[in-house]
Amino acid sequence: MEKIPLLPFIISAQFVAGLSGLVMCITAWRRRRLAGRMAVYFGAAAFCVAIYAFAYIGEISSHTVQSVLTWIKIEYLAIPWIIPFWLLFVATIMGHEKWLKPRRIAALFIVPLITLTTSLSNDGHRLFVADAYLLDAGSFYTAQLQPGPFYWLGQVFDNLCLILITGLILHRLVNSLPVFRRQSQIFLIGTMIQWAGLMVFVSGYAPYNLDLSSLVLSVSGGLFLFGMVRFRALDLVPMARELVFERMTDGVIVLDAINRIIDFNLAAQKILPELQPAVIGEPAIKALAGQTTLAAQMIQAAADALEVELNERHFQVQQTPMTDGRGNPTGKIITLHDITQVRRLLDELHKLATCDGLTGLYNRRHFTELANLEMDRVRRYSGALAIIAVDLDHFKRVNDVYGHAAGDIVLQTAANLLKSTVRKIDVPGRLGGEEFWILLPNTIVSDALIVAERLRSRLEQVVIAYETHELRITASFGVAGITHADNDTLADMMRRADQALYDAKSAGRNRIHVADTSAG
Ligand code: GH3
Ligand code: MG
Ligand code: MG
Repeated sequence: MEKIPLLPFIISAQFVAGLSGLVMCITAWRRRRLAGRMAVYFGAAAFCVAIYAFAYIGEISSHTVQSVLTWIKIEYLAIPWIIPFWLLFVATIMGHEKWLKPRRIAALFIVPLITLTTSLSNDGHRLFVADAYLLDAGSFYTAQLQPGPFYWLGQVFDNLCLILITGLILHRLVNSLPVFRRQSQIFLIGTMIQWAGLMVFVSGYAPYNLDLSSLVLSVSGGLFLFGMVRFRALDLVPMARELVFERMTDGVIVLDAINRIIDFNLAAQKILPELQPAVIGEPAIKALAGQTTLAAQMIQAAADALEVELNERHFQVQQTPMTDGRGNPTGKIITLHDITQVRRLLDELHKLATCDGLTGLYNRRHFTELANLEMDRVRRYSGALAIIAVDLDHFKRVNDVYGHAAGDIVLQTAANLLKSTVRKIDVPGRLGGEEFWILLPNTIVSDALIVAERLRSRLEQVVIAYETHELRITASFGVAGITHADNDTLADMMRRADQALYDAKSAGRNRIHVADTSAG
């Protein structure tokens, strides 16, 4: 039979497998401070794979049964520990560290310890390997073993562990957030490779009866390492991260560099019900088509927090850009912080600062502020501005006859009537006890007069029920105005309106007087 130069190839492959086992071991070991015990478990498994692979080079190069059996003993110094350490590693990374009590870990190593001792003492009892002979594969020999009961015990145990590992990974794959699914998927592929290797071995289809386990283990180990490092598992335990991420009260949405949604947490989903697993990978602008303002804010680069209203709640939208090691943008984190409470308080404060408590009309300070703004506008551009002064007639009597509470109700009724009579851009204020003022932007005096008349007649018709009484009220009005050409200040105009109001009172009340035109 022609000798096939396969041996150097197998040896090289095993050497690479052993070397990568060592590299993986060192990589994990160097990260042990960040990653904790999972790095130690992984490192131990990888180290055992390396020993297995290197020892197999010895086995495959052997020419006698005795030499093969010696190398197998060396392999079995490492083999029994690989899968249990693998299981510990997977259990830890999948967040089940609390199960791993010292007693349970010790129990996990009972079978491997039996495998080790029976393999070492095999010459005495032959219960591990009953018999062995060499198969001529052409350029090399492979060992054909006749396994004993303790060999099978180790096999069964390893397969049970592998089933458990697969179960843990599948459980995590089903129950984790999309962002962590990638890692589980890679772990699953790594485990599937081990299963495939096992199938080949068990079915007896392994070429030349070669033992491919160490190669399979180093390949799947490499995948696990990639899965860990790529998805930062060695730096940050995913469970902890997921807990923090999920239990956060702030909504968090992660976008990639081209503004596609990569991830979001439960809080974000509560705020925006359209955030379903199906939108992962979709452009934010499409996924949040119903929330155009928010989507636009998320996409634009914004250094400052912006405020947005979503379903009657207020949120502060903050962007945190993400960059890779070289500073290139990789995406951003959007946080939605609920400030509804704060916004309500601020609105309340604003109302308290600008409005009168009894009637809700603007107070003197705010009225004056707005009136001055309007004055400036008329001065700078053009148009007109009118003002109406309103004072309830004989209001003291209401208080005196029916009491202060009745007086307050009358004031509120008058204020409501006032609010509903004027236009939206008009500014009604309560500047004194029963003294109301209305500022009418863009209005000439003759139009203000119409408004005042409407108000006067409506007020006259209102019947206010108070206890068993029916109260009626009237008011007197003074109207004044300015145009672009006038030089009046706000105080001048108000003085003229006040004078007109005084004239209306003198003339018999329940009437309107228009002030003389501006002196300037
Ligand atoms: P006139 O027709 O001349 O305006 O007669 P009047 O009785 O309305 O006289 P005046 O405007 O001088 O009186 C204002 C009264 O308004 C004084 C006070 O008893 C009453 N008043 C002021 N502020 C309040 C308030 O907040 N609640 C109540 N109930 N009464 C108020
Ligand atoms: Mg009065
Ligand atoms: Mg008064």
